[in-house]
Amino acid sequence: MQENRIEAFVKYNFFHKEQRPRYVPNPFHPESLYYNIEQDYYVCPMGQHMNRIGTKRDKTASGYVTQSARYKAQRCEGCPLRGSCFKARGNRIIEVNHRLNEYKKQARERLTSEEGIKHRGRRCIEPEAVFGQMKYNMAYRRFRHVGKEKVTMDFAFFVIAFNIKKMCAKIAKEASKLFLDLIYRLYTHLKAIYGMN
Ligand code: SF4
Repeated sequence: MQENRIEAFVKYNFFHKEQRPRYVPNPFHPESLYYNIEQDYYVCPMGQHMNRIGTKRDKTASGYVTQSARYKAQRCEGCPLRGSCFKARGNRIIEVNHRLNEYKKQARERLTSEEGIKHRGRRCIEPEAVFGQMKYNMAYRRFRHVGKEKVTMDFAFFVIAFNIKKMCAKIAKEASKLFLDLIYRLYTHLKAIYGMN
């Protein structure tokens, strides 16, 4: 979206959870730990440095490559917080996707800004209602074609038809209002002529 100069107001998972008034972050979660960006290390809840030990690369089903930096505590044996901190054997290792965290930070700042709150308020009224109609009322849950161009065509036709349907419903509603108004005027006119009660 950034490459296409689109300002993103997109929620990530846990955004709603984080916004709850009673939300208390887990102090053992990597995002709660202190991070020294200059020297690239974390500090665990017991105050130990967790130094960088490498990078883990993964590929999503769509082929997107993710990179997570790995950090390891030096000595977890005998730590009084061990039971609450982690379950695995040895010293604790955390994996952090810094790029994803940066995107989440940007998203959080935007979504909680004045403009973001306004967009979030409109989202449940405008697009969500349309998604509901598309997916449940009209059963449009899958694209019928494969490939970017064909999917664009597939969806464009659907959207044109959807908008025509909406426009017809609006015209019909206005026409019926006009018709009722006309009948009412005619009725009051006749009533005045013939002195009806
Ligand atoms: S278990 Fe290890 S990582 Fe967790 S608080 Fe204790 S020393 Fe730190």
